[in-house]
Amino acid sequence: TYVVAEPCIDVLDKACIEECPVDCLYEGGRMLYIHPDECVDCGACEPVCPVEAIFYVDDLPDQWSVYVTANVEFFEEF
Ligand code: SF4
Repeated sequence: TYVVAEPCIDVLDKACIEECPVDCLYEGGRMLYIHPDECVDCGACEPVCPVEAIFYVDDLPDQWSVYVTANVEFFEEF
C-alpha cells in the first residue's frame, strides 16, 4: 500500500484523488488517507502530490512511520 504522510496536513491539495483508479484516497480532518486494503499499488498518486506527501509504505521516511498506523486506524473507525 501507499501511505499519506505529514506534508499533507492542512494542504489537502487532492490532486491524488483525481489520479487514483480505485478511489481509495479519503479526506479526514486535516489530511487525506489511503485505504490500505483498497490501494492497488499503482503509484499514480505519488508524482502528482505537490508536497510529496505520498510514499510506498516501504519507502516511507522513518520519522513518518507513525502514518502507516494512522492510515490503518482511520479506516477502523468506519
Ligand atoms: Fe490509489 Fe494507486 Fe495511489 Fe494506491 S497507489 S492510493 S491505488 S493512486
